[in-house]
Amino acid sequence: MKCRKCGKKAVANLKQYKIALCENCFPIFYESLVKRCVKKYGILKKDERILAAVSGGKDSIAMITVLKKLNYNVEMLYIDLGIGDYSKNCEKIVEKLAETIDVNLNIVRLLDYGFTIDNVELKKVCSACGTSKRYLMNRYARENKFDVIATGHTSEDITSFAIKNIVGGNFGWIEKLKPRIESFDAKIVPKARPLFERMEKENMLYVLTLNLPFSSENCPNAPINDWKEIVYEIESRKIGFNQNFVRGLVRIGEKVEQEIRYCEICGEVSISNICAFCKLVKRYSQSC
Ligand code: AMP
Ligand code: ZN
Repeated sequence: MKCRKCGKKAVANLKQYKIALCENCFPIFYESLVKRCVKKYGILKKDERILAAVSGGKDSIAMITVLKKLNYNVEMLYIDLGIGDYSKNCEKIVEKLAETIDVNLNIVRLLDYGFTIDNVELKKVCSACGTSKRYLMNRYARENKFDVIATGHTSEDITSFAIKNIVGGNFGWIEKLKPRIESFDAKIVPKARPLFERMEKENMLYVLTLNLPFSSENCPNAPINDWKEIVYEIESRKIGFNQNFVRGLVRIGEKVEQEIRYCEICGEVSISNICAFCKLVKRYSQSC
């Protein structure tokens, strides 16, 4: 398989885009996808001070690297949650990345607030971790005068979260699943998701082709996310599912203005002069 752009050996066959690319052309392609998505949804502005929350995993590593490449005014934030060696290893990776791509690294330690995630009982670990991350990101960003917080959430994160909540009958989340969430209070910093339309495998290819340091360790506390597994399965059978799903989410709540008309032949409600049924009658009524 050859690279569609330069003819060298391709490392990725991106079925969704019907294109195969080599290790040099893929990062350029990926960066153009992120650039287009950020512009399309107005996710970030060039004059904003951006605090990119980086965990050390492939997604947030890809996010900060691409933002830096696209010349955004960006710094990194690593939150040390105190999850044993896992947190220590991730911190080392983030430090290495900061040097590699020359971005300022800020570190906040949960221990400075008197506890770590290792102190929390197992049943409450994930919710305590989520609460702590959201709280510390927002507070650090506001106190240090950042305009926006960027996270590495992917289309699979958004889709699986949406499906889980739809099934659970919980609809209060829709506003939280947008590519950018504006502030509703002076103490809340806007949130941005530059990788809103990206898939995990694209982020993985980006960090691999650029040879960036990243952690392949999973958080030792993270349970298997069944909804994510389901989303992977759907994507494998319906290529483009995740991207179409998140694009659809953005449009929820949009008003579709449609003028109501009546069919000139039968008088029923119709979107055009002649209704769809009368068109069928016209076409087929003589064929019996
Ligand atoms: P998660 O909640 O683990 O799915 O992570 C979602 C996003 O939150 C990541 O893509 C990062 O942007 C951010 N994040 C997660 N963990 C950390 C961390 N320890 N420090 C900084 N940012 C983090
Ligand atoms: Zn190429």
